[in-house]
Amino acid sequence: MENVLKDMVSSGGDDEGTKQQFLKAEEMRTKSLLKCSKVKFLVEIMDRMGCKVDANSFFKSQHCDGKINGGFSLNEDGSPSIVLCQNHIQDQEWMDRTVTHELIHAFDHCRANINWERDCDQHACSEIRAAALSGDCDWKFEVMRGHFKVPKQHQECVRRRAILSLQFNPMCQGKEDKCVDKVFETCYKDTLPFPEMP
Ligand SMILES: [Zn+2]
Repeated sequence: MENVLKDMVSSGGDDEGTKQQFLKAEEMRTKSLLKCSKVKFLVEIMDRMGCKVDANSFFKSQHCDGKINGGFSLNEDGSPSIVLCQNHIQDQEWMDRTVTHELIHAFDHCRANINWERDCDQHACSEIRAAALSGDCDWKFEVMRGHFKVPKQHQECVRRRAILSLQFNPMCQGKEDKCVDKVFETCYKDTLPFPEMP
């Protein structure tokens, strides 16, 4: 969603604080690739599918103006890349979740060549999977967000977060709920490449 990210990513100024944030994000990202089992698994699977993730060119740590942790986008030549929001990602667990979330989009793009700017159903499906499989909806984060245990809490969280993410795609405006509802059941159940909900 290149055009979305262009509006939301800025250099964040040239000061020492920004530089420190950048270095810390890069360090955490390196650690995710080395140590986070979900991240390592996704990278390896994509490698086998012919969609190699080259750590240094695939990821960019940047300042983000919008309230986002990261973004998946296609470069002008169609190659995918991932932005990690250095001013929002606060700790290693947060980085692991964000990298996993964006790698699910990269995996979906690798397997289905999604048209992110045209196909809201496919985009919705990928957001559902990314929210469900990355750990974004683990109960402890939900409690921190003020959402206490309700029946089907995980599904409700996944649905809510998928709708939120879809709002950043101008093509999906006004039909976020409809798209998410339409594909929810199928996509929530689709845990690939994980054998089950990790
Ligand atoms: Zn997403």
